[in-house]
Amino acid sequence: APIIRVEHLRKVYRVGHEKVIALNDVNLAIEPGEVCCIVGPSGSGKSTLLNQLAGLEKPTKGHVFIGKHDISEMTENELAKFRQEHLGFIFQSYNLLPNLTAAENVALPLMFKGVGRKERLKLATQELKKMGLGKRAGHKPTEMSGGQQQRVGIARAFVAKPKVIFADEPTGNLDSQTTKQVLYRMLNMAKENNITFVMVTHERDLAAVADRVVTIKDGKVESDVVMDAEAKAA
Ligand code: ADP
Ligand code: ADP
Repeated sequence: APIIRVEHLRKVYRVGHEKVIALNDVNLAIEPGEVCCIVGPSGSGKSTLLNQLAGLEKPTKGHVFIGKHDISEMTENELAKFRQEHLGFIFQSYNLLPNLTAAENVALPLMFKGVGRKERLKLATQELKKMGLGKRAGHKPTEMSGGQQQRVGIARAFVAKPKVIFADEPTGNLDSQTTKQVLYRMLNMAKENNITFVMVTHERDLAAVADRVVTIKDGKVESDVVMDAEAKAA
């Protein structure tokens, strides 16, 4: 059965007197363990879709199911708890807490799970090592480059091994060499841990390693393609 199911999803923003229809009757199903890339022109609704999938915003209409849970019917409190227990999110703008070190930032999801401080920091440091930041564990975000901060954000998303990780242009602010490294490391980590990974991206390379590529245009699903091994190799 799909781990993510989207039914007749609609999102309308109000800007002054105007209505912006960001998503209009979106239907999708994503299978467990899939790497799914969401692509499409700027302003087509990709970030809006990701925000609804991850429960960061409420849909205007329609439903988002994660496993058997209808997250569109949850209260804000239920949703916050569900996100902490089951979901990871990698933001384009990192969203690190400025007063915490890299390791403390990465350890946050483990704190919500009740892991003790010593164990949390050990696991966080291990996760930072996997992202090539073993020497930066004690640094604050302001002491790191954008690329390093994003790798801290990625380590934070993975550390508690959530069922699903959502990522909005995770490599948008990295140089092209770092992008490749970070990308492949991230996707390997998802595959090794059987984590479903849903990502908005402009990277052509990335869409090539995806199991599914969903193209959004004018707030609708323009195409939804499951890549077979042959298509990926091409
Ligand atoms: P994409 O991620 O594909 O670039 P977005 O999902 O960010 O597109 O935006 C889709 C449309 O919804 C755009 O017209 C955008 O201006 C509008 N939009 C997105 N977020 C908001 C918001 N918080 N308030 C008003 N309009 C928004
Ligand atoms: P992206 O690179 O994903 O298209 P944007 O710069 O369009 O990102 O949007 C960044 C954030 O601003 C998103 O969280 C989106 O919801 C919000 N946003 C986008 N368009 C608008 C808008 N017209 N009014 C208010 N917020 C917006």
